[in-house]
Amino acid sequence: MSYVFQPEALTALPVYGSELQFAVRRVYCVGRNYAAHAREMGSDPERESPFFFCKPGNAVMPAAAGQILTLPYPSQTTNLHHEIELVVAIGKAGADIPAAQAHEHVWGYAIGLDMTRRDLQGQMKAAGKPWEIGKAFDHSAPIATLYPQTQTGWLTSAAMSLQVNGAVRQQSNIDQMSWPVADIIHHLSRYFTLQPGDVIMTGTPEGVGAVVPGDELQASIAGLGEMRVRIS
Ligand code: MN
Repeated sequence: MSYVFQPEALTALPVYGSELQFAVRRVYCVGRNYAAHAREMGSDPERESPFFFCKPGNAVMPAAAGQILTLPYPSQTTNLHHEIELVVAIGKAGADIPAAQAHEHVWGYAIGLDMTRRDLQGQMKAAGKPWEIGKAFDHSAPIATLYPQTQTGWLTSAAMSLQVNGAVRQQSNIDQMSWPVADIIHHLSRYFTLQPGDVIMTGTPEGVGAVVPGDELQASIAGLGEMRVRIS
């Protein structure tokens, strides 16, 4: 078998305490999964089922421990926003997964940033058009080192924070999710057969805002280390 051109290398996340790498397949994202963030975006959080959008697997920028990622400021926007999110990595395939069995499908967890061209997302939303140009651009998903669930246990509570140039912008806890991880996996797996290598970005809390070239972001989730990203 030979290809017309050399396929690009798989995007893979480093694994904490291991030489192994976690090859990324798809990136599923949950919209408006923290009530206070839904309100700041002008939605009523009480009336929504979880909804999903995707980023390409190769939009992921893996961050090794201690590394400062450099994220190029994307084209066609003047309002690039940060969204800190818990990332859940799938290790076992499944469809129609009951919430009570969701933990069996989770391989591990990481810190992620759902970087967003907020101006374009807003325009698309207002026009009833797809969000891809706002959400799925190159480098739009910095993700830190993956922590195996065998080490962290099943995560239901963990403080999270995002600082920009040392000032706290987002501060919450994953226990504030409207749809917890088990429910996310249940709902998502009704629509897509989840496969090992899929990662889920589980939504962001309130406090999203713009960053500009030169800014340095520091994201942390208790038990999952931290991730640093510089906008260039
Ligand atoms: Mn998000």
